[in-house]
Amino acid sequence: MRAVSISIHGGVEVLQSGEHPIPEPLADQVRIKVAWSALNHLDLWVRQGVPGHTFPLPLIPGCDFSGVVDAVGEQVSSWLLGDRVTVAPGFACYACEKCKAGKHNLCRDYGIYGETCDGGNAEYAVVDAKNLLAVPDGFPLDVAAAFPLTYLTAWHMLVSRCSLQEGDKVLVHAAGSGVSVAAVQIAKHWGADVMVTAGSDAKVNKGLENGADFGVNYQTKDWEKEARSWTKKRGLDIIVDHVGADTLPKGLRQLAKGGRIVTCGVTSGAEMELNMAPLFFKSLSVLGSTMGSLQDMHTVADLVFSGQLTPIIDSRYDFADIALAHQRMGERQAFGKLLLQVNPAVE
Ligand SMILES: [Zn+2]
Repeated sequence: MRAVSISIHGGVEVLQSGEHPIPEPLADQVRIKVAWSALNHLDLWVRQGVPGHTFPLPLIPGCDFSGVVDAVGEQVSSWLLGDRVTVAPGFACYACEKCKAGKHNLCRDYGIYGETCDGGNAEYAVVDAKNLLAVPDGFPLDVAAAFPLTYLTAWHMLVSRCSLQEGDKVLVHAAGSGVSVAAVQIAKHWGADVMVTAGSDAKVNKGLENGADFGVNYQTKDWEKEARSWTKKRGLDIIVDHVGADTLPKGLRQLAKGGRIVTCGVTSGAEMELNMAPLFFKSLSVLGSTMGSLQDMHTVADLVFSGQLTPIIDSRYDFADIALAHQRMGERQAFGKLLLQVNPAVE
């Protein structure tokens, strides 16, 4: 089969396209004939490498992918060949205390396809049967590949970590990123008021089209000042931050009493100075978040498949042009998801 793999970390030139053996599913696994694979920032980290973290190279990246069931392991009875599916990207042991409590992302054995083991940048991929999400008839497989990782991440950040409530004032940074697009839609779905920041007027406008109530171009305006006037000096209840050093310390001083900042990434830098005084006198929380539970994944999938949450697709690429897609994601030009069409014959 044709697949893209990484043997060493580096620029887009380390994405190697080549022939690989078709993988065989274990007893409780299925093989998927991949139709579409979506890019995530995680794919850039996997490609570039992360200091202090070891990836199991060589590795086929790709944590979001959709397709049809192509083969099933001998213990799998709930899926049939040809079933249209997309994949929950995270897997766990399902036996430890955390797993039994439904906190799969806290499992010590938690892993992600395309990061911990081979993923979906290939014509065929093998996953645990538990990870399959049935795609309804008529629902396009490109959109089905475009939501699992980011919508699960955003859902866990807002709902599980921050206890999002109707009427909350929510700020979402970097409106065009996949997680931010999802966070805006989820916050609106819960009846929150949403403000976004972005680095251009065009992205701010797209953020408003995505449902945000208010948007600020941080290149031309002081988003802190704008947030203060938007909340009538009350402060923000929740800030969704994956920018880090450039935004998180400022965000801390824009929270209302009881406010929460939740982070799932630090694209502008991990080390920063924080003034901790408001943390106790305003009862603030700084929360970390990675992925979410399988239960949350099913909840989110139902909302997407029923049209209550709608992934935004920035652009579609032929599988052979994966380097161009990585490049666009790295340049932060995209608004929404970048998709790779792995096999046009799979619909
Ligand atoms: Zn576990």
